[in-house]
Parts: sequence; structure tokens; C-alpha cells
Amino acid sequence: MLIFRQLVDPPSSTYTYLLADSRTSQAVLIDTVFEQARRDAALLGELGLQLCYTLETHTHADHVTGAWMLKRQFGSRIAVPSSGGATGADRGLAHGDRIDFGGRHLTVRATPGHTDGCLTFVLDDETMAFTGDCLLIRGTGRTDFQQGDARRLYQSVHLQIFSLPQDCLLYPGHDYRGLTVTSVREERRFNPRLGGQISEDDFAGYMNNLNLPHPKQIDVAVPANLVCGRPDNEQMSSNAAAWAPLTYTFAGIWEIQPQSLEEVAGRVQIVDVREATEFDGPLGHIDSARLIPLGELASRAATLDRSRPVVTVCRAGGRSAQALVILHKAGFTECANLAGGMLRWRADGYRVVGGSA
Ligand code: FE
Repeated sequence: MLIFRQLVDPPSSTYTYLLADSRTSQAVLIDTVFEQARRDAALLGELGLQLCYTLETHTHADHVTGAWMLKRQFGSRIAVPSSGGATGADRGLAHGDRIDFGGRHLTVRATPGHTDGCLTFVLDDETMAFTGDCLLIRGTGRTDFQQGDARRLYQSVHLQIFSLPQDCLLYPGHDYRGLTVTSVREERRFNPRLGGQISEDDFAGYMNNLNLPHPKQIDVAVPANLVCGRPDNEQMSSNAAAWAPLTYTFAGIWEIQPQSLEEVAGRVQIVDVREATEFDGPLGHIDSARLIPLGELASRAATLDRSRPVVTVCRAGGRSAQALVILHKAGFTECANLAGGMLRWRADGYRVVGGSA
């Protein structure tokens, strides 16, 4: 079975796509975003997937790719358009190439026009295609920079995308209105720039008069993407927290496992956010834990020591995750949630004060 997820980076409205073969657990990611690499890594981990490739539809001007970050963590191969000019990739992609993941594959179609090197990735059974910034939902990528060419874009869409089956779902690189998916049939009919009877001349005239502002990120993003998202200072980009081995969940929470908390317990502040009756109840509490019920945390956060990391604890790990949100708002940066709460802590055999046997 195909595993498919559509992920969004809200600041840049960029879509990242995860495709995997559930039988072999092999996965690819299309158009990752540097700032979301941790999120993507967490999702791969939680779904038990092995990342084979990160793929780029083109050299982006509006965000930096997470390809290098993910390669460092997973050993995935970086695949980019061979005519995009990027260095540091493991594989250059051109029209007709095939990217395998488990028993499934994507086929590469060259769809230049937005940039010279733009690619569209088509799933093996032609039920889905990933069009990057070539064809957007009821729109197209711009053609006024990065070797853009309106006439080539028109040709690309008509010859390479509109020629796919009518029901083929099309997933774009961006959408700025919250739309997520379209189809060949829909775009052929309703795309206001190049659908219906609109000719290449009509389209070129339209595109050459858009007068769009210069993209905010272009001066940062293009150079960074030309080295596949490898940062100047590699140390700065480290995912790891220095104070304890933490894991980042897909829900966006830093977690600490009971064993790690046991090791660092003397150096951190443990805040138990349950109610007093639970703190002294059957589950007991961790030796050095301080009781601050969740409802009082916002008003009492100032009484915590800002120079020491905070670990939050509750019964099962739910309220303590919410406590992290409150602590972040109060300006605490080094905090983590005890995974599984007191239930896991006890089940793993760690020492508690009070409670029943
Ligand atoms: Fe683009």
C-alpha cells in the first residue's frame, strides 16, 4: 500500500510530500523545507519509514531545502534536477528517469518554464503527479526570474501534465489560499491562465504583465539551495539539545525518556503539573519534583529558575505537553516533557515517593 502525506510550511506556503511503500517502509520526500526537517524526521520515525531520497522539483527561490539536514540524519540521497545547477547532490534527475522506493516508483518529466530545471514527478500508476511550481491550483509558477519563460511553461503544462489521465490528481509545490489538490480534468477546464481555449500567446501576454514583487527569500534561498541546503555553520544547525538526549515528536514536542531523566535529574527542575491529590495519590511522584498544577503554571512560571532546564511531568504525558506550551510562552527554551508521564516512569521501574505498590 502507498503511504502518502501532504505537509505544509505555513510561512512559505510550501507543500512537502511524503510517499512510501508500506510493504518495504522505503520512503521519499518531495520538496522539503529546512525549518521543517525536524518535523519530517519525527514523522518518518513515528511511521517507521526509511528515507531513501529527498527530491527537488526545482531550485526554489522562496524557501531553503531540508535535503542536507535529512541526509545528515538518515543518510538519504539528495536528488535534484540535473540542469538546476546545484552542487552536493547524490543524483541528478532528467526527463525519463525513474526513482524507486520499495515496489513503487516515480517517473521524472521535464517541465521547464518557471525555471530551466523544473521537474514534475509522476507516480507509477499515473494517479498522482507532483508539479512543483510549474502548474499550481488554478495558477502557474511565475516566469519572470530564474530563467523563466512563459512559452516554455505553457508547452510543459500542455505536453507533459495535461497529457496525463484526466483523473490524475495534481499536487502543487505551493498554494497561498489553502487549496491542497486538483486534477488534470479540473485544471484543463478551469485554470484561468492556460486552461480552456487559452493560447500560448494569450498566456505569454498574461505572464509578462503580472508585475510581481521580488520574492522576499530569493537572495538567501537560491544560494542555499544551490548547495542542497547545507548551512555555512553546520554546528549551528544541530538538532540535538545539549542538556539531555531528547526526541522531537511529530506533534512538535520535545520529549525525554525516563532513563534519560533519571540520569539528568540532579541538574534539571522537574515540575509535576498534576493536581495535589494526584501528586500524593496512588501513582506517587518523582523524588525531586515540584508540584505546580497546570492551571497555576502560567502565573507561577516566574518562580522557576531560568538557568536550569525544566522537565514537565503528569499522569500520562498529555497535560505536561500542554505545560511546555505555557513555559515557551513564558520564555523558557530548555524544556522537555517526560514521555508517558508517571505511568511510564513507574512501569519502567524508576523510584517514586509515596504512592501504592
Ligand atoms: Fe519556485
